[in-house]
Amino acid sequence: MKILILNCGSSSIKYKLYDMAGPAVMAAGGVEKIGLGGAFHKVKIPHARVDYADIPDHNVGMQLVLQSLVAPDGGVLKSLDEIDAVGDRIVNGGPFSESILMTPEIFSEWRKYEGLAPLHNPVQAESIETVSRQLPGVPQVAIFDTAFHQSIPQEAYMYGLPYACYEDLGVRRYGFHGTSFRYVLQRSAEFLGFRPEEKRVILCHIGNGISISAVRNGRCVDTTMGMMPNEGPMMGTRTGDMDPSALLYVMEKMNLTPQQAMGLTNKESGVLGISGLTNDMRELVEAAAQGHERAQLAVRMYNYRLKKYIGAFAAVLGGVDYIIFTAGVGENQPPVRRGCLEGLEFLGVELDAARNEQVFGEEAVISTPQSRVTVAVVPTDEELMMAEDTMRIVAGR
Ligand code: ADP
Repeated sequence: MKILILNCGSSSIKYKLYDMAGPAVMAAGGVEKIGLGGAFHKVKIPHARVDYADIPDHNVGMQLVLQSLVAPDGGVLKSLDEIDAVGDRIVNGGPFSESILMTPEIFSEWRKYEGLAPLHNPVQAESIETVSRQLPGVPQVAIFDTAFHQSIPQEAYMYGLPYACYEDLGVRRYGFHGTSFRYVLQRSAEFLGFRPEEKRVILCHIGNGISISAVRNGRCVDTTMGMMPNEGPMMGTRTGDMDPSALLYVMEKMNLTPQQAMGLTNKESGVLGISGLTNDMRELVEAAAQGHERAQLAVRMYNYRLKKYIGAFAAVLGGVDYIIFTAGVGENQPPVRRGCLEGLEFLGVELDAARNEQVFGEEAVISTPQSRVTVAVVPTDEELMMAEDTMRIVAGR
């Protein structure tokens, strides 16, 4: 079975074509800067290449992607008919609690929640319609970033706003990175040999965006991201938690529109805003090591806020058996893993400091054999999880 996985952002389409017999990635790449100057199509697999083109909208972007899959030079398919199914990543799935076959009825039901992710859901709707036109008859499966978190109890997902904000506007914690969490939980259980139904697990997805989730008996009971993907620890360019009144104060003093305030808090803040240097944790940690004071402050804030949530979720779970690190920083930055676990010995965390320094992007245990809590690195693979969901749901129709 050949499955095309799509991940549409506000100005991008990332894709991977899987042959599920392996599973093997046949093609991968992305169209970026859609509707902006300098748009391009970057092919990563089978052969690295960048093609600049005029890409005014997602429809044209999708056409470019599909054409490249069947191109006489470098295409991996003879015909688009070889694509058996498409899996679409959807940022906010409202109340949907699992991946689902996208029928016209489901599509119109989901569109009611479009406003909940204003930067993503509308382009994802457009992408689903584009695929229906360009690949007629090919089943599409919707995979929701929020689905994993639908098990969170009401006391954890409500905000302390008047109840009508929840009832009438749908304002609540939805959580994100759910597909990554599902994959990492499943892989951790296989790799470490435990049954999630019996354990307390804290999953730390630390990339440009950061989510930490508390999982009890295999079900998510709390997560740090909220209604939008900007709550919890401080991130690369996002504030994470802050007093909403402080934001209103800044908006008033700086005369910002809501859209400008979204830009400020999502794109100009976090470690970038504090350091004034970079949102890239590799560069930040390096600058801090060379004595850059605001880079040092940003690193301290970053680690402190991660630690605070690991501690909070240990309290939520009544203790913790496994702490798992994943995503760009979690997989590849030993100083961050060390920094955010420092002082958590009272929880039973004993890091193997030497081992931690050696682990980059691979499955590995980084706690000592005596540690009561097993700490491990497990690389995420959201696209593979999406492809597996798509195959299962299409096969079971
Ligand atoms: P996104 O949330 O955009 O998917 P990623 O999971 O790719 O982000 O994480 C990006 C972050 O991970 C950056 O801060 C980057 O510095 C860090 N990172 C990614 N790969 C590496 C690596 N090989 N070594 C060190 N840091 C890395």
